[in-house]
Amino acid sequence: MPTLKDREVGIFFWAEPDALSTIRTVKSCGVVSGQLGVDGSVRLTPETAAAWKAALAAEDFHLFTVFAAYEGESYADIPTVERTVGFIPRDVRAAREMRTREVIDFAAALGVKSFGCHVGCIPHDTSHPDYQPVLDLVRRIADYAASFGMTFCLETGQEPAAQLLAFFDAAARPNLRINFDPANMILYGSGEPIEAFRLLRRHVVSVHGKDGDWPDPAQPGSLGTERLLGEGSVNIPTFVAALHETGYTGPICVESGVHGEEQRWQTLSRAVTLLDSLR
Ligand code: MG
Repeated sequence: MPTLKDREVGIFFWAEPDALSTIRTVKSCGVVSGQLGVDGSVRLTPETAAAWKAALAAEDFHLFTVFAAYEGESYADIPTVERTVGFIPRDVRAAREMRTREVIDFAAALGVKSFGCHVGCIPHDTSHPDYQPVLDLVRRIADYAASFGMTFCLETGQEPAAQLLAFFDAAARPNLRINFDPANMILYGSGEPIEAFRLLRRHVVSVHGKDGDWPDPAQPGSLGTERLLGEGSVNIPTFVAALHETGYTGPICVESGVHGEEQRWQTLSRAVTLLDSLR
């Protein structure tokens, strides 16, 4: 395992078919660690796990988290997110729970200690018919992750911090934690991110380096716009200062959707350099 510093800067990246070349490309941006996203189309076989395990060892690369995304999810706008993302859509809930267990098995085979995903837009109203089934599902996944000594991280943004805190209290699972994404708080209009971070801090085990601007109030249901790191409304230097102040020592993983395929790695490299200068 590489030597990791407090507030180690890593990169969030998606699993491509060639594990070794993917990790080499990520490392070329100046990092030795990150988080791996596994989308719903990735076939998870023992061979897949073996290839990733060998590539991580060969490149001395550390994975903090394995994230799952699911087939059929769309982030087009807030109503579409509500309808398609995570464990909220009833018709695919059972299938996504099974897939989640497969991704956790994959993470365990790699020796990764944290699993994460977007659970979707948890209903505000606890008497909503989807609230209790989703809460129970989250508990089952947390318990399954715990059986491998893993945390289960919820990604922030789709609800205000106070509502997420109430959900944590209801779930009552010590390994249920938070991957805090400051940009998502803004993109979904869920609240001022630094204030939200302070409120959720005790549950946070990992953080995304991402930036964005608020949704256009003239277009209800629209999402905000992602920006290059440091150029959006998060106020990245103040956010990193808040990480310091609150004693946060976990990773900061750059997650950037602002790229065409060509500029993607350049964008990530620049974001890593910025965070390295602040961390
Ligand atoms: Mg994120």
